[in-house]
Amino acid sequence: MPEALLERENTVFVGGQWKNGRGAEMLEVTDPSTGNVLSRVQAGSAEDVEKAARAAAKAFDGWKRKPGAERAKYLRGFARGLESRKTILVRVQMHNNGKPRIEAEIDVDDAIATFDYYATLAEGLDERQDTRVDHAGGTHFGLVRHEPVGPVGMIVPWNFPLVTSAWKIAPALAAGCTATVKTSEMTPLNELVYGDIAAEIGLPAGVLNIVTGGAEVGIALTRAHEFRKISFTGSNMIGAKVMEAVSARCLPISLELGGKSPIVVTADADIDQAVSCIMGGIFFNAGQMCSATSRLIVDKSIEPKLIEALVEASRALRVGSPFEDGIEMGPLTTSAQCHKVLWMIEDAKSDGLDCVIGGGAIDRDGHFVKPTIFRDVPQDHTIWRDEIFGPVLATTTVSSDEEAIAVANDTHYGLVGSVVSGDWTRAKAIADRIEAGQIWINTPQVVYPDSAWGGFKQSGIGRELGPWGLSGYLGVKHILSEV
Ligand code: NAD
Repeated sequence: MPEALLERENTVFVGGQWKNGRGAEMLEVTDPSTGNVLSRVQAGSAEDVEKAARAAAKAFDGWKRKPGAERAKYLRGFARGLESRKTILVRVQMHNNGKPRIEAEIDVDDAIATFDYYATLAEGLDERQDTRVDHAGGTHFGLVRHEPVGPVGMIVPWNFPLVTSAWKIAPALAAGCTATVKTSEMTPLNELVYGDIAAEIGLPAGVLNIVTGGAEVGIALTRAHEFRKISFTGSNMIGAKVMEAVSARCLPISLELGGKSPIVVTADADIDQAVSCIMGGIFFNAGQMCSATSRLIVDKSIEPKLIEALVEASRALRVGSPFEDGIEMGPLTTSAQCHKVLWMIEDAKSDGLDCVIGGGAIDRDGHFVKPTIFRDVPQDHTIWRDEIFGPVLATTTVSSDEEAIAVANDTHYGLVGSVVSGDWTRAKAIADRIEAGQIWINTPQVVYPDSAWGGFKQSGIGRELGPWGLSGYLGVKHILSEV
């Protein structure tokens, strides 16, 4: 048990100082494998957010004027700090998120890679400054600069706690912005480690602030006047509220929201490869992924064979506590999420949908849901159209690639997609036409720090990761002069 991290006395890191939160609420850190409470930590308050915003504003000028290479040293310090805490961070995620060990390790490695990647971009940032533009006519020239947008308020969810915050903090600090993060009330412990590392590496006070808490703290963050941008990851419902709050001040905003992503399998696909991509796309993190490929669109000719193989693989999937041997899928992270998923499964069953495997809770303590597949789901049904955020796959058949593309795009989301095909050129032609921010061809979902993350349509605004993640925290300035 990672007692040191579970028993946090102080839950708010503001202006380089640790304090206990001043919120009225105690946040329960639960173990979804048992339903037991592991610890209780004090939530932050609106007042804590106001102090954090002031500290971030005060620190901004000094931080932005540091050379990129110096900021990069701190970013590498975060990467090394995460590395040295990997064992404990993995265990906290196994306990509090219910992630199997391999998944918890992937998360920590992802956060480390993100800090290292943005350290490299920070090192190259100064060279990109003052790019000359010779304007028509020869009487004027311009110099283009990329300047940090300012102190940024950040709100993150619970499903990949260390990762979603790393994807914001690392590019923001690389750009020269200061950051204030509100963590999820469901997983309040993980990101506190960023405060520990900031103190350890001597990050200037106020450059990174962390406040725990729920909606009330999030609302305070969207209202704090010191922030010049809000970056949010979470559900569409809350994303809309954040957008509305921020619109009162016409602030820039980035939104990383939900999805109902397709996986297209063509007639010539290798069945084993398709099964591996489909299983990873819907059962990784027990399906609690914005990028879950929860709609399988398969060519009619291979559907019976594919469904048979999927049912077999789902039956063989080892579901249990991450602390049991050989576990491949853990519980759902929260009791509320578990109830929501079970309710959606029951609703589908009562509508007479064909549940070919799973279809309910596992009879044991904790928030366990069986890997579930509904076959031939009508395309106007809730489980085809709405984000479930659990281990539930809906399938349908098509007769051509053209039809597959039309079905894939018939959604108001546009986050990701997958294509599995025996013919790469054919797969690429389908990938080109799916309206989504990232498409995987013949591979389970792999995310690199130098790829792009974000959605079309209602899946969000802006892109994280890659150079686009850095650009999200930079504004372009054009200085024009007489020759
Ligand atoms: P959520 O929207 O319920 O909560 C997200 C965050 O917003 C939490 O920290 C919460 O405390 C805070 N919040 C709640 N009410 C608020 C308010 N009125 N003002 C400001 N902040 C408020 O989402 P969740 O349940 O934590 O996460 C699951 C959702 O996140 C899913 O829809 C998933 O698709 C999405 N998600 C998207 C991405 C992505 O990159 N696109 C990544 C992970 C999760």
